Amino acid sequence: MTIWKHEPTGTATEASGPHPHLDRHGTPIGNLPAWPAPEHPYTAPTERQPITMPEPIGAPTRPVIVVVQAHSDDLSFFGCGTIARLVKESGYTAYLIQTTNDDKCGPTPSVGETILANERETEELARILGIQRVFNFGYQNHFLDAVSVAELRSRLVFLFRLLRPDIVMTFNPAQPAEQNPDHWVTGQAVEAARWMAGLDKDYPEHLSAGLAPHIIRGRMYWVARAGQPTNRIVDVSGYVDTKVESLAVHQVQGTAGSTGRRLRATFAARGLVIPELGGDDDTADRAYIRRFMLAPGIELGARHGMSCAEPFYYLDESDTDLHEANVTAWANANAVPLE
Ligand SMILES: [Zn+2]
Repeated sequence: MTIWKHEPTGTATEASGPHPHLDRHGTPIGNLPAWPAPEHPYTAPTERQPITMPEPIGAPTRPVIVVVQAHSDDLSFFGCGTIARLVKESGYTAYLIQTTNDDKCGPTPSVGETILANERETEELARILGIQRVFNFGYQNHFLDAVSVAELRSRLVFLFRLLRPDIVMTFNPAQPAEQNPDHWVTGQAVEAARWMAGLDKDYPEHLSAGLAPHIIRGRMYWVARAGQPTNRIVDVSGYVDTKVESLAVHQVQGTAGSTGRRLRATFAARGLVIPELGGDDDTADRAYIRRFMLAPGIELGARHGMSCAEPFYYLDESDTDLHEANVTAWANANAVPLE
């Protein structure tokens, strides 16, 4: 299914189709060993069912996309409509990895409560978008540049080899105009891990444990700041309501989810009402989101005959494929029998 529309120039490309999940002997992988159930009584929001690889449905396996975000609301801001569409229309299995713990993002006086509230909101976002599982790395918010990049990269390599995504969606590792260290460290770590996961000499213990090198063929860099490059847009006209619900999840971070209700309260204290914000907090949040948070996507879509669109910079391995095909064609055309 074509979901791309080219923006602004170049050759349109299909989103990567299903790729077989093969072990290093070329045998399709079914289920990986289930993770052990937690033994302690506390049930954190992320402790869902043991992870299993998707069963094949006709094609060798379902395609997989992994989103790597730094904060609870990144995906909602930049790519939630596309994820919802890939899951619902294209049969993708989606996973979400979050690098930080959001401990700076919330009005609560308790750091612990702030972290937990964001974690629960991320789980709710996953439910709305049909994401199968969330992996929280838990690094300190705004200090990802103090983390060992090698450690972050190794954790990503492990999950990339475990989940075997066809596409990874994250921050552009070049990231012009990006001031948040969590964003640029996440993007750069993903880029290196994506490449390293496909090599067979790095982290050989993964191979001993039954994992295999895995090349992620598609990269979708979302546009987190004005001025970051884009070469594709995704038509998410049918997912406007999903985008609104995704953004409304983020009550703790506030920028997206709870600004409407705070505006309503501020003006009510002055004896004023803004009719468009409606008569309750939930309506106010969603009215604010529709008017302000969706405006860039609606404006972008309008230039292409869509109700709403999300921009990305997309890269795949087509250059490598073309080079290898050219070499093979040249070799076959020029090979002569040995004397
Ligand atoms: Zn962020």
